[in-house]
Amino acid sequence: MLGRRAERNKSERLLAACPLSFRQMPRYPSPVSELRVDAVVVHYNEIALKLGQRRHFVARLAANIRRVLGDLPIGAVRSIAGRIVVDVAEADTKTMARRLAVTPGIANVWCARSLEADLDALEREVDAVLDWWRPPGSFRIEVRRADKQFPMQSPAIAARLGRRVVERTGAPVDLKGAKSILYVLVVRDRIYLALERVVGCGGLPVSTGGRVLLLLSGGIDSPVAGLRMMRRGCRVRALHFHGAPYTSATSREKVRRLCAVLARGQGPTELDLVEFGGIQREIVRSAPSALRVVLYRRMMMRIAAALQYELGMGAIVTGESLGQVASQTLTNMTLISGAIDVPVLRPLVGMDKREIMDYAQREGTYEISIVPDEDCCSLFVPKHPATAATRVEVEAAETGYDIPALVRAAVEGREREVIEPAWDASAVELAAEIA
Ligand code: ATP
Ligand code: MG
Repeated sequence: MLGRRAERNKSERLLAACPLSFRQMPRYPSPVSELRVDAVVVHYNEIALKLGQRRHFVARLAANIRRVLGDLPIGAVRSIAGRIVVDVAEADTKTMARRLAVTPGIANVWCARSLEADLDALEREVDAVLDWWRPPGSFRIEVRRADKQFPMQSPAIAARLGRRVVERTGAPVDLKGAKSILYVLVVRDRIYLALERVVGCGGLPVSTGGRVLLLLSGGIDSPVAGLRMMRRGCRVRALHFHGAPYTSATSREKVRRLCAVLARGQGPTELDLVEFGGIQREIVRSAPSALRVVLYRRMMMRIAAALQYELGMGAIVTGESLGQVASQTLTNMTLISGAIDVPVLRPLVGMDKREIMDYAQREGTYEISIVPDEDCCSLFVPKHPATAATRVEVEAAETGYDIPALVRAAVEGREREVIEPAWDASAVELAAEIA
């Protein structure tokens, strides 16, 4: 455990590690909106509840934002009044908002114009906006006054600006179901005005919740399990078992693409590839066929546990969901994780297949997952796998092969890759790249 002082130093280091000061960068009008966006205002919600730890969580989120936008022209990334504000020089704000929307820890993002903290300046800017912008139906003004010293209260600011919009456009005000919203944030020395709000994925910033090793199969479920753990603040490293030398390279291609999607939320993602075909042969040679699937899975767990130990990760994560297939009965799942004494997290255990598929579609992994492949698990699969194997029969079957030697060879022979985020390709395009 870090002491308080060390934690504070770490937080300060993370905050200080911001890119070039905005002053050093040229200003351009935004090509996207005539609002001339020059700031991105990031709102978080769950972090705000972390009383003693908030500073650390915010610093981590700021560092993650800086990494996600690192190749784009941004200025300082600062924590201001319970938000993070990114100064934007040459505002490709659509790209920025799209990236931030999949960054864990972010509730929503405004693409904003920053003004001096002066009501007249705000009114002048709203006037300028009304020269080219009309609410497409009803509207409302949403004002947050983070600086309680500011001379006018939020409802009064909203009423004053609202009157202006009605005078100029005749658009009706609707305080509940407005079609468009003008956002205003008042902080100590600035006011931010925004017309656009992009909803983020919520959760907690990656790297505030430890590191986990994800068993990534190339199917629909395990990438979803990884995404969900990322949203709880975990940094995910992926481990894939492939059927070489008995299967093609398709499953490896699939997991690389899946990691490129995971990497959008957490940055470059490490992937370990382990050859599993030889181990399966050993199991097929010596164990009853009904037990094969449980035995494969117990070997996967042992290899994962050895890797977890070597890398100092906090837990193993799988995409198992109760009752989905023969190996995922309560009895078999208990036997599978019973092979090791490392915590196994199963974030999808209570989800229906339909829910998992919807999530995968929304997050851009589904199309990759459904590309047909030769998964190692489809190798040598018995017609009638046991749904309720017993510990005694499984342990008896495991006397037929040298577990420590197989685990050691698998861990030593693994290949490691680092997969970069795929920002510019859709799920369909990524799926089409798979040979
Ligand atoms: P998935 O859609 O994730 O493949 P599934 O419903 O097909 O899951 P299984 O094939 O029984 O279920 O796999 C259960 C879990 O075991 C997977 O979610 C994954 O975490 C892990 N797993 C299975 N096969 C592999 C593999 N080849 N490499 C790594 N992990 C695997
Ligand atoms: Mg599978």
